[in-house]
Parts: sequence; C-alpha cells; structure tokens
Amino acid sequence: MRPVIVAANWKMHSTPGDAAELATTIAARTREPDVVRVICPPYVCLAAVAAAMAGEDVAVGAQNVHHELAGPYTGEVSAPMLVGLATWVIVGHSERRRDASETDELIGRKLGRAADAGLRPILCVGEHLDERDGGRAEAVVGHQLRIALRALEPVALLAAGLVVAYEPVWAIGTGRNAQGSDAAAMADAVRETLVAIGWGADAATVPVLYGGSVTSANIGEFLAEPAIDGALVGGASQKPDEMAGIVARAGVTARARLAEAAAS
Ligand code: PEP
Repeated sequence: MRPVIVAANWKMHSTPGDAAELATTIAARTREPDVVRVICPPYVCLAAVAAAMAGEDVAVGAQNVHHELAGPYTGEVSAPMLVGLATWVIVGHSERRRDASETDELIGRKLGRAADAGLRPILCVGEHLDERDGGRAEAVVGHQLRIALRALEPVALLAAGLVVAYEPVWAIGTGRNAQGSDAAAMADAVRETLVAIGWGADAATVPVLYGGSVTSANIGEFLAEPAIDGALVGGASQKPDEMAGIVARAGVTARARLAEAAAS
C-alpha cells in the first residue's frame, strides 16, 4: 500500500524569523496521523523549521540540491550539507528547469546525490501546454523520467523512497489545475515508464503526487483517483486554512486505503 503524502513547497517565501511560527501553525492544523506531511521551506529557513518540527510528525525538505558533493560552486548547497536539516528534497522542479536551465541529465545526478545522502527525493516532471495540446504529454514525461533515471540503480532510489510529482508546467501557479482523470492517466504512464526501464513490480510501489494549483477545493478530484498518492502544493501551502483542508481530505483517502488493505 502506498502512503498518502502532502508536501508543501514554500518556494521563495518566508524568512528565518517567521518560518517556525508558520510551520508550527500548519502542523497544528494538519494533524492527520495517516498522512505523510512534508514542509519544504527555503534553505535559510530549514534550521528554524526543523527545530520547530522536532516534536511533530512533519518532515522537512529542501527545494533543491547540488549535483556535486563540494567544490567551487558559489551559492550552492550539496546533499551532505542538508543532512541534519532536511530528510526530503525536491529535485527537478519546473521553476528550476526554467530559471536554472536544469536538464534531465543534471536532475539525474541530483537524484543520485540525494539518495546517497539518505534524503528522500521528490522528482518533479511535467509537460508544457503546447506539448499537452499536441498530444505529447506522456511522451515528454516519459522522456524526462528515462533520462533522469538512466544512470541510477532502481534499488538505490527505492531504498531512498523516490516519489514522483507530476506537475504540468501550465498548471503551476496559474490557478488552472489539471483534471483528476488526466493526472491519473499520467500517474499510470509514469509507472509504465518505470516498468519499461526495468523497475518491474517495484514501479507499482512508487508514490505519484499531483502538483499544480492544488487547493482545498480541488484536492478531492485528485485523491479520488487511486493512482494519485497525494499532492505537492505551492501557492496554497503557506495558507493554514488551505493546508488544513487539503490534509483533512488526504486523511480521508489514507484511512480508506488502510481499511481496504485490512479487508483484503
Ligand atoms: C509547486 O510549486 O510545486 C506548485 C505546484 O505550485 P502551485 O501549487 O502554486 O501551482
């Protein structure tokens, strides 16, 4: 049975001065024991959020990691540096593909570093609008996965707990979310790609999240799909009311899955 996960991507919002209080408020408003909760604040807020979450069942994640271990990379942060501050890391977010020209090959190297350091990676994939309109969405995402994963051993990524986030680029920060059925079809396609590149039956164990303008009002559409295991939330993730609604709905799905597993 795959876990239900809600991960908050705070992007470039919050400061070391206010992040702990916000994380504490969100943690208190989202206590659903069957839902895996993750908060990914900016690097400079990781220490404050990690300290604030010490007594909470909320994991802390970074939003990026460098592909080298150390060296002359001004302004960058490597995987070993994150150990102790974060246990998860977002890799390959479309905003980094866009703004930092991250390629699938580079993203693969970041994944390897994350896994080696014991960080749980959330690999973001997703197509642009013209690619969806052209009927190429699944091919684009399949290509992203094949290149990012080609140099990595499935066993290492499985041990690290790889999570894939399907985030159509046209849905991120736009207020225009994908349809639940399209997201579910993509989650199936993600797992089919994993099978095709040699992951075998383990592909079915990889959680696939949806991300892109998720709110408390639309999360139900995604969690109604058995192929979708939660959400990567951006804009709504710093709003305690929104997070309360999203995680409460995730709790409904998590309990239903547990009950189904117990009955079978
Ligand atoms: C994201 O940043 O991963 C994201 C999905 O953003 P938003 O929810 O704002 O679309």
